[in-house]
Amino acid sequence: MTKPANDFETISDDLLAQTHGGFSSQLNSAMHRAQELGLRITATTNGKHAAHSYHYQGRAADVAGAPGAMRQFYREMSKTNPTELFYDPMGGMKHGRNIGAIGGHGTHVHVAY
Ligand SMILES: [Zn+2]
Repeated sequence: MTKPANDFETISDDLLAQTHGGFSSQLNSAMHRAQELGLRITATTNGKHAAHSYHYQGRAADVAGAPGAMRQFYREMSKTNPTELFYDPMGGMKHGRNIGAIGGHGTHVHVAY
């Protein structure tokens, strides 16, 4: 049975942003690249993060794995004008500018757009 076209539920933009399909193409390609490098996505909208974290808006991902792969991921993402990019051994970026390591990101790379 097919449903009539007017029977679709509409989802608010807020809710949509929290679904996987709501991730920006930049964040999606970052996560795709992380997986190519053998890294795991350890958090998107789930997990515990700082208040007002981009995670809760579906704009951030944490990735973890071999340190060499995390360094490579950081190097590549640093060229994509990320809103946030944190990996303490390499430094940190906000809005595409280097701000240095912020702490608390020694075991995973945080990226947000
Ligand atoms: Zn994070």
